[in-house]
Amino acid sequence: MNWKEHHYYYQIPEIGNACSMITCKIVTEKDYMRSKRVIHIHEGWSKSLWGEFETIGKKEIKAFLTLTRKKIKFIEQLDCYSYKTNENENTEDKDSSKHSEPEDLDATKSANALESHGLKQPSTKKPYRTIIGAVIGDVIGSVFEWNNVKTTNFDLFNPKCDFTDDTVLTIAVADCILNKKDFAETIWKYGRGYPGRGYGGFFRSWLQVNENDLKPYGSFGNGSAMRVSAVGFAFNDIETVLKVAKQSAEVTHNHPEGIKGAQATAAAIFLARRGKSKQEIKNYITETFNYNLDFTLDEIRPTYQFNETCQGSVPQAIVAFLESTDFENAIRLAISIGGDSDTIACITGGIASAYYKHIPQEIVDFVEDRLPPEFIEIIDKFDEQYGRE
Ligand SMILES: [Mg+2]
Repeated sequence: MNWKEHHYYYQIPEIGNACSMITCKIVTEKDYMRSKRVIHIHEGWSKSLWGEFETIGKKEIKAFLTLTRKKIKFIEQLDCYSYKTNENENTEDKDSSKHSEPEDLDATKSANALESHGLKQPSTKKPYRTIIGAVIGDVIGSVFEWNNVKTTNFDLFNPKCDFTDDTVLTIAVADCILNKKDFAETIWKYGRGYPGRGYGGFFRSWLQVNENDLKPYGSFGNGSAMRVSAVGFAFNDIETVLKVAKQSAEVTHNHPEGIKGAQATAAAIFLARRGKSKQEIKNYITETFNYNLDFTLDEIRPTYQFNETCQGSVPQAIVAFLESTDFENAIRLAISIGGDSDTIACITGGIASAYYKHIPQEIVDFVEDRLPPEFIEIIDKFDEQYGRE
């Protein structure tokens, strides 16, 4: 069997603007075998790759979107899988070896067909990944918060990994920015919508308050820093980044250290994404927030303990980024000092994704497999809107 890769574009009006175009990708045989559950849905519409999409209905699209949720990359581009069967072949037969080679439709044909629909070829330039960096830190770190490891040498892909409060509230803040929602109300709603994800005691009490009576409680916990990454990616000048970071923090964490932790994290992300060097980032953070970053992880690793304050974990997370060589290494370093591992790795991960702009797909897939579809939707929309320079 000779599987080839093609790209097609097709309008799927039922999905609306967000997913109005689809990229159809004929995958390798290995990918096909791995993704059989996805292929299965497509078995009815495989005769002509181009035309068959016309025959699928809303239900199929929904099923496809649900199953392949992690594959939805951005607004006009989806990865999906399809293949061609012989016309008189029994389509109930699941034996993949009987499927023939896909019809070779070329890019010109695809582009012409698009034009005949009055559509333009969507940009194939992908945005870089943004807040998923913070989410990855949380998910990978989730199994180490109460089982610290003091080494970078651990299994990244622990089956028990799951998203925690850091992810939920990172998504909440991203939702606020994307959809111009109120910080207090939205953070409160997400916290209540995803209970039992490891929220601090004061935050849990705050979640019990009436929606119309939400007041900050003077916290300087690292909750303000763990949820702020979207702010660092969304705005184009440092003044706005600092202002919005403060706003996102002070609905709960209105202590000066709580605000500072959020601002320092968002500022580091902003500077990293703008291509500033590590030394420049370090200087800015030291001078602006008076954090001492003149230590190494090797020095603190033996004695560093659980500390969920901003001032006791944000500088450590920033140093983990400063010492790192790539995204994965940053996550490993952040977890290697122990302490509040998921939150430290979440803060480090946000900065590292802004700086390196490359996250191994294997890590993204592992983490996205553990997220609710509505989180992935926000992550992808956020990338689409803000992951471009
Ligand atoms: Mg957590």
